[in-house]
Amino acid sequence: MSYKVAVLAGDGIGPEVTAEAVKVLKATGVAIEFEEALVGGIAYDSTGNPLPPTTLDLCKSADAVLFGAIGGPKWDNVQPVTLRPEIGALLPLRSELNLYANVRPAKTLKPLLKASPLKGAEGMIDLVVMRELTGGIYFGQPRERQGDKAIDTCVYSRFEVERIAKQAFAIARQRRHEIVSVDKANVLETSRLWREVVTEMATANPDVKVTHMLVDNCAMQLIRNPKQFDVILTENMFGDILSDEASMVTGSLGLLPSASLSDAKGGKLFGLYEPIHGSAPDIAGQQRANPLAAILSAAMMLQYTFGDLTNSARIEVAVEAALNASLRTADIFEKGTRLVSTKEMGDAVVAQLK
Ligand code: NAD
Repeated sequence: MSYKVAVLAGDGIGPEVTAEAVKVLKATGVAIEFEEALVGGIAYDSTGNPLPPTTLDLCKSADAVLFGAIGGPKWDNVQPVTLRPEIGALLPLRSELNLYANVRPAKTLKPLLKASPLKGAEGMIDLVVMRELTGGIYFGQPRERQGDKAIDTCVYSRFEVERIAKQAFAIARQRRHEIVSVDKANVLETSRLWREVVTEMATANPDVKVTHMLVDNCAMQLIRNPKQFDVILTENMFGDILSDEASMVTGSLGLLPSASLSDAKGGKLFGLYEPIHGSAPDIAGQQRANPLAAILSAAMMLQYTFGDLTNSARIEVAVEAALNASLRTADIFEKGTRLVSTKEMGDAVVAQLK
């Protein structure tokens, strides 16, 4: 059986890092059919639309989407704003593909142990933030200005909590079987509903240990003792903030992958996989970008959509081995290591795979 992956490389360093991720996927030997499509500024330039209907159709017909990055100064002033790459492509992709679960691992890679900005955060951090992506205060209505008053509305329904919690349980089962559900149940009604639903699901799934933590405490615990976490499950805005905090605990933007997941399709979890960094226009086209976040996003695709834990782990091990061999792109270069290009880093991962 062959899988179909839509490849949306996008703008800036997107094409450079995505090419390396595709190269590594091919080297695993997994049967994947890749199909490329335009997205972002490059799509706007050639079609007038940052998310052409053909691109969306391809994504809908694929098993998974491999996404690079989009946007850049060239398109910052496009009018109307709804045609700017980030607004006209990223947001509709999330809603059209129903990508309601954002998964962001924060894992220390052994050779970069010292990169954490936290003094004393010695040892390996290996956690996942599971953020609800299509509900809560970012989407609730009304959202309006009334003179000197402004209103945002936070709304959650039982089914929205249930479906993301279900994904969190599934991911916890592939890891250490522990979930910390984060809310603000001492103040917010939506958080009380959240806690109620997660508690019911915990009773029904006793193989996973579930605890609850208030968001302010969680922000502190991520700095104090990030090793205590396995899966952090939380709503949209808390997840937005905590996932950035958690990812920086490991210390390097060019190394962090992510997945945005929807429901299972034909028995497979549909998802869009992308590095957390942007299109880095300052280094685009120079072969200076670190492709490891894109490569690790491809590993997440194998893990979550294709359930291929073996090849996913093989890629992770190969990435660590390339770093252990002291190869570094410019962003993580330090004295005593060897500076390599984007392509050379991809080649090194492929060599380690073999
Ligand atoms: P950015 O992540 O693109 O860059 C921030 C800094 O990190 C830059 O100095 C860049 O050179 C560096 N950097 C980022 N990725 C790197 C990599 N793989 N290797 C080495 N260095 C790397 O963030 P920004 O500068 O705020 O945004 C640039 C553009 O990207 C903007 O148009 C923004 O809207 C867009 N953006 C897109 C996405 C996305 O497509 N999902 C996400 C964030 C930002």
